[in-house]
Amino acid sequence: MSELKIERIDVFQVDLPYSGGVYRLSGGREYRSFDATIVRITTQTGLEGWGESTPFGSTYIASHALGVRSGIAEIAPHLIGLDPRRVDRINDAMDGALVGHLHAKTALDVACWDVFGKSVGLPVCELLGGRTDVKMPVISSIYMGEPEDMRKRVAEHRAMGYISHSVKIGGEPAVDAARITAALADKQPGEFFIVDANGGMTVETALRMLRLLPHGLDFVLEAPCATWRECVSLRRRTDVPIIFDELATDDASIVQLVAEDAAEGIGLKISKNGGLTRGRRHRDICVAAGYTVSVQETTGSDIAFAAIVHLGQTVPERYLRCVLESRDIVSLKTADGPFDVIEGRVVAPDTPGLGVVPRLEVLGEPVASYD
Ligand SMILES: [Mg+2]
Repeated sequence: MSELKIERIDVFQVDLPYSGGVYRLSGGREYRSFDATIVRITTQTGLEGWGESTPFGSTYIASHALGVRSGIAEIAPHLIGLDPRRVDRINDAMDGALVGHLHAKTALDVACWDVFGKSVGLPVCELLGGRTDVKMPVISSIYMGEPEDMRKRVAEHRAMGYISHSVKIGGEPAVDAARITAALADKQPGEFFIVDANGGMTVETALRMLRLLPHGLDFVLEAPCATWRECVSLRRRTDVPIIFDELATDDASIVQLVAEDAAEGIGLKISKNGGLTRGRRHRDICVAAGYTVSVQETTGSDIAFAAIVHLGQTVPERYLRCVLESRDIVSLKTADGPFDVIEGRVVAPDTPGLGVVPRLEVLGEPVASYD
C-alpha cells in the first residue's frame, strides 16, 4: 500500500439560510439559519477530501456549531501524518484526542472517506459495502404549522415527486391530532408518513393525541418523548410503530434500542451519529435487527447531502425508509455534483469519492488551518 498521509486540514464556515423562512419545532424552537462547518483534508500527494457538519441549531441535540469547530481544533493536530484511508484508525485517533463530540468528528471522518474514494477511483458507496440498485426516495420536512397549511405543503412536495413526508408536531394533543389528520388527508397509494414530535410530548399528551386520531391512519411516530424512559413507557401502551432519532446517537444507544425492543427503526443522521465510519456500523446493526433506516442529516448543504446519498445507497431496499433532501432545507449551494433528484428519487453518482466539487467562492477563506 503506497503511502498516503494527511498533510493539512482547513476549516471553513458558512451560514446556510433556511429556505422556508422560519422552521418551527416542538417546544417553541425556531430556526432561521444553520451554521455549517466544512473541512478540507489535503494529503501529501495533493488529494483533497471534503466533509461537512451542520448542527440543527443549538437546541436540537447536544451539538452546536461552535462546538464543531472547537472540537476540530482539539482533534485536527492529532490527524496530521495519519493515513486517511484507515478510517477506523482515524476514528481511534479522534476518540483518543477528544471524548464524545461526534458532530465535531463527522466532517473530518467524511473528508477521509472522500480522499479514500479518490485515491482508488471509486465512489464512497462502493467502499461502504457496495451500491444497491435502489432509486432512493427523498423525504420532505414539513415544519409544524396550522393543519391546513401543513396539508398544503405536503401537497406541494407531492407535486415535486416526494413519496415520503416527515410531519412535525408540537405536543398539544388536539392540535397535533388535527395536524396529522390534515397532513394525511390526501395520502396516495405508496406514500409514507413519519410523524415527528422531536421529543416534544409527554407520555400523557402522546396517549391523548393517539386517542383523538381517526382510526386507521397509516404513519409511524418518531421521537415522541424527550427521554428514553418515556418513549419506552409509551411504547408499552400503544401499537403505533415508533422510530428513534434524537435518542439513537451512538453504538451504545442503538444496541440498547435493539436489546429493549424499543423501536422499529431509527433516523440515522450522519453528524449526529459521528460520520460515515460509525454510520456504516449503525447501518449494519439496524439491518441485523430488521430495523428501517432513514438516512439523514441534522440539516446541511451539498456536501452533507452527498454523504447521506452514499450511505443510503448501501442500505438494502427492504430496510431503507428514505434519504433526507437536506439541500431542500437551505437556500445556499456550497458544492456542485451529479446529485439530481428525479421524480423524488436520487442515486449515488459514479464519480470517485463523494463526487462533490465545492464552490470555493462560497466557502471563502479558511477560518482555521492545521498542518
Ligand atoms: Mg426526527
